[in-house]
Amino acid sequence: MSDDSVSSLVEREYPSLLKLYKDLHARPELSGQEAWTSERLASELGKAGYTVTRGVGGHGVVGVLTRGDGPVLMIRADMDGLPVREETDLPYQSTVRAHDPYGREVDVMHACGHDLHMAAFIGAARILAGRRNGWSGTLVMVGQPSEETVSGAARMIADGLFTRFPRPDAAIALHVAPDIPAGSIGYRDGIISAGGESLDIVVAGIGGHAAHPERARDPVVIAAQIILAFQTIVSREVPPGELGIITVASVHGGIKHNAIPDEVTLQVNIRYFNNDIRDLLLNSIKRVAEGIAQSAGLSPPLFPRITLLPQSVPPMTNDRALTGTITTAFRQAYGEGRVIRIEPVTGSEDFGVFGLVEPRIPLCYFRIGCGDAIGSCGFLHSSRFAPSPGVIRDATGALIVAATTILDPSSPYSQGT
Ligand SMILES: [Zn+2]
Ligand SMILES: [Zn+2]
Repeated sequence: MSDDSVSSLVEREYPSLLKLYKDLHARPELSGQEAWTSERLASELGKAGYTVTRGVGGHGVVGVLTRGDGPVLMIRADMDGLPVREETDLPYQSTVRAHDPYGREVDVMHACGHDLHMAAFIGAARILAGRRNGWSGTLVMVGQPSEETVSGAARMIADGLFTRFPRPDAAIALHVAPDIPAGSIGYRDGIISAGGESLDIVVAGIGGHAAHPERARDPVVIAAQIILAFQTIVSREVPPGELGIITVASVHGGIKHNAIPDEVTLQVNIRYFNNDIRDLLLNSIKRVAEGIAQSAGLSPPLFPRITLLPQSVPPMTNDRALTGTITTAFRQAYGEGRVIRIEPVTGSEDFGVFGLVEPRIPLCYFRIGCGDAIGSCGFLHSSRFAPSPGVIRDATGALIVAATTILDPSSPYSQGT
């Protein structure tokens, strides 16, 4: 399909997609709490002619539309917002507050563009449902909850996404990108985003009076040494050129000026592109933490207790052939200069989890530019993140170009189906 015909179809939908976007933006919901959002997507997909199933893996939504023989293509949009207080001053700014999983009342904002992804997803769903010709096969439209906690994809799979519904031959998703100029699309084959793990480390010591440190084993000092020693794991143990990140993002210990606590808790996050580096980081974190505890005079019952949390995410890998096919279609539709090969990002994303269930489903995840020359749209997860809503047009168009390419009867994905 030519770029012109896609643009005119998108343009016709745009006013209503803009309204949907503003509604979604004003009512963000935290990960795992996407009840209103998922109902809105379910009703939009139903109105567009899809057979809709609600409540897949929590608040997940699945819409299926079959039109003749051909491959099964999954298009996924993420639905959750973040515990961020919005400071954009937009007329449709969020003032929503909600309780997080720890029971704390927090502000909520669509600070990662998932509202824009959903508007484009519905735009593509409607336009593809309305097109009589040009594609043949099955569309599986997936509204995924809990992307920000990198747990929604796994929950949807566990609840039968690939057994209760047509199993995809390919799956695509997109994300807005403030670091790419608006009007351009970023692509990459192979690894496109990092794997990540979160750990709790409880650094034990022996508490006591601040005036008598000699009778205690101060876990605050031990924790401080551990935090600094972690920095040399990355600089001295990870091979140059490999990605390895260790971030100690929170430190909690003690409640009183004059009392040495019994323990200090560290919340730690690691990022990597290769699983070998993941293993290196985790092994070295344990060795360094225990070695420092030992040097402080502690022995095993009081060694640091390290817990790997369940919300881990593997590196995300784009299928070479699928990405090549879609990228060629983007170049034809938008011109060579607007389709940019990008570096992998050190952020993480659980769309990759959909590609790991055997037999593996080829994935293509691409990024839609929303940056401007003066950087006024802010960055992802910032309280001032405000992409131009016009980017909905680019994102909707790109989904349609990618989908009609895969579902074209002459595409390699249609052969043998
Ligand atoms: Zn995010
Ligand atoms: Zn996001």
